[in-house]
Amino acid sequence: MIQNKDDLARIITAESGKPLKEAQGEILYSANFLEWFSEEARRIYGDIISTPAKEKRALVLKQPLGVAVVITPWNFPSAMITRKVGAALAAGCTVVVKPAEDTPFSALALAELANQAGIPPGVYNVVPCSREKAKDVGKALCTDPLVSKISFTGSTATGKVLLRHAADSVKRVSMELGGLAPFIVFDSANVDQAVAGAMASKFRNSGQTCVCSNRFLVQRGIHDSFVKKFAEAIKTSLHVGNGFEEQTTQGPLINEKAVEKVEKHVSDALSKGATLVTGGKRHPLGNNFFEPTLLSNVTRDMLCSREETFGPLAPVIKFDTEEEAVAIANATDVGLAGYFYSQDLAQIWRVAEQLEVGMVGVNEGLLSSVECPFGGVKQSGLGREGSKYGIDEYLEVKYVCIGGL
Ligand code: NAP
Repeated sequence: MIQNKDDLARIITAESGKPLKEAQGEILYSANFLEWFSEEARRIYGDIISTPAKEKRALVLKQPLGVAVVITPWNFPSAMITRKVGAALAAGCTVVVKPAEDTPFSALALAELANQAGIPPGVYNVVPCSREKAKDVGKALCTDPLVSKISFTGSTATGKVLLRHAADSVKRVSMELGGLAPFIVFDSANVDQAVAGAMASKFRNSGQTCVCSNRFLVQRGIHDSFVKKFAEAIKTSLHVGNGFEEQTTQGPLINEKAVEKVEKHVSDALSKGATLVTGGKRHPLGNNFFEPTLLSNVTRDMLCSREETFGPLAPVIKFDTEEEAVAIANATDVGLAGYFYSQDLAQIWRVAEQLEVGMVGVNEGLLSSVECPFGGVKQSGLGREGSKYGIDEYLEVKYVCIGGL
């Protein structure tokens, strides 16, 4: 029996390895979505539209889409579910949740809480399955004619499979997919603030968030000072360990495959001329642990500049001009989050407008908040979650024309 939020946080740490403090933060974040959307439910307004026809009146009604299939990843085992389910339930939809193989217990815990809260049976449903079966279960759910909506968070590759499933019966979709977030530090930046932002945006959840900075672009004039201070911060403030231990800031990665990817990105970069500043290998604690790693002299041809690492690796690319930084940042087919540090107001406007991403952090390394729209452009996704926009993803707009008046 789940009695309080600490029980839920312990489930997250046990199944994902995330440090308990971060798991406690996730529980609040997760609960905030339910609270936010329960309030938004009261604001699903329709419209009355004026037309030139005297004998007619036109209305817009907003109605629930119907059954929503919700497929979620392991990196935020609770919040990725409530960000969707909160909006779906508030709109009047029912949901079938397929959680990730690595983290089914948070989804099941939410089912118990839904029961305790009096949500009627059949409204919040969970279908956990093995990774082996995910393809078939996903297909069965996403092609079922009773389903009107697919809401997915995960990799771009899986998102494309689900979009194909959706196409046959023209279902509504929301896709929160992968990113390759640039983190740009201009010469005008406050270097200490930039380092603090870099630490927050890179090493949260051991680098396993979709909005984690993947590429650090640092202007020549500030480069050496930034790299030196970033390395010091990594060495002094990060503690790799068991997520249940108080001092741990970096838990294990989700599985060995994730560690292999980080290893591959590091060895590829080093083989092409990058410099290892700190870290660089598996941690003595075990196969799923990787040292927080900083590389400099990284170039655009290296894997870590082109692919989402999803782990504790910070690669630094040096640049000379603003145009060059923006061009590097935008030279990718994904665009979820982007960050930059600058004290130059004109530059702040220019760069914020030019970055091809759905979310921009200016002198800020942490972006997510239930009140603000979360989502990406290009192949990072379709639609927005959270905020006043999130509920629209589960609503149909119906136009009613009343004639003969
Ligand atoms: P993934 O492999 O795409 O898995 C995500 C979910 O999809 C899991 O539940 C997975 O099940 C399921 N799945 C996999 N193949 C499927 C199929 N053919 N049909 C139906 N379901 C299928 O993603 P991941 O690598 O675990 O998660 C990390 C990725 O998610 C990163 O790219 C990250 O950027 C992205 N992400 C994006 C956001 C965002 O809001 N934009 C947030 C968090 C993460 P199994 O676990 O059983 O494989």
